[in-house]
Amino acid sequence: MTASDASNAKQELLFGKEKNPSHILPEKLTLDSKIKFRCHPGVSCFTSCCGHINITLTPYDILCLKKRIGIDSDEFLLRYTQPVYLEKTDMPGVQIHLTAEGKCPFVTEEGCLVYTDRPSACRYYPVGMANFHEGAQENQTAEKFFFKVKEDYCKGHDEDKVWTVREWRADQGVDVRDEINRGWMELVMRRKSFGQQATLSEPAKKMFFMASTNLEKFRDFIFHSSFLETYDIDKETLAELQEDDIALLKFSYRYLASSLFGTQDLKIKEERIKSKVQEMKAKQQEAAQRAEQTYEDLKRDRDQLRQTIDERKADRKQG
Ligand code: SF4
Ligand code: SF4
Repeated sequence: MTASDASNAKQELLFGKEKNPSHILPEKLTLDSKIKFRCHPGVSCFTSCCGHINITLTPYDILCLKKRIGIDSDEFLLRYTQPVYLEKTDMPGVQIHLTAEGKCPFVTEEGCLVYTDRPSACRYYPVGMANFHEGAQENQTAEKFFFKVKEDYCKGHDEDKVWTVREWRADQGVDVRDEINRGWMELVMRRKSFGQQATLSEPAKKMFFMASTNLEKFRDFIFHSSFLETYDIDKETLAELQEDDIALLKFSYRYLASSLFGTQDLKIKEERIKSKVQEMKAKQQEAAQRAEQTYEDLKRDRDQLRQTIDERKADRKQG
């Protein structure tokens, strides 16, 4: 990896625990690259990485954690998270709210209380993924690569176990999570690629936050708002969205892509388009009528003025 690649990698960490970039090793890894690492309760540093760190949560992280704890999204968000802007964009998300001592609320001396449902960020370490070309723009293929993060206090690097990046990711369940989170990550990367040139409206930010952090509310929005009067969704998909949280998550990405970026991910009902066209036509007609009325008013005023001037002239002549 060149110095410039490394600098870009710093910018492009995808939802990993936020690391000190100086700990990113200057080597570009592929899925077949080998890494030496093992983390287990026997290491002297056990759980020392579970504090003083920013852990951004993906929609799937939130779903898994709130189910694991047995509470709804509202309560989970309130008790365990704090708001944050994602990847230096204006898209709102959440990260784990650390305790007053700066520790993750799920860490104990015995390890992680929610280990099998731990967030993606905790699974990535020590292999980060970078998105080199600010991907996720339409017609642009993002080049993904990997890199190793090595912090001095982490003794896992001194262990003898050797893996390929592919094996490590499969072992940590990262691939499965990446597949489920992909649509959401692409939304954030797409937004990021726009830079500061455009900002999201407040309602758009609220919708993004609701759809990506609170599935109960998003489901309610689908079934109890004017949503189904606007979008053409077949019966099978609707039945799936009622029952299947992962299907609902993935659907939320499509909805957000369509509503925030105007993609064609969801089909708008014909009658809705027709009524929208009629509404626009009616507005145009109204505007044309108003313009005509204004013209007539101006013409009448001008004729009256001319008549007044003519009358004054006639008066002056007579006088
Ligand atoms: S969720 Fe678990 S693995 Fe992740 S920081 Fe907290 S305690 Fe550590
Ligand atoms: S080996 Fe590294 S990842 Fe494992 S507990 Fe220690 S610091 Fe954390």
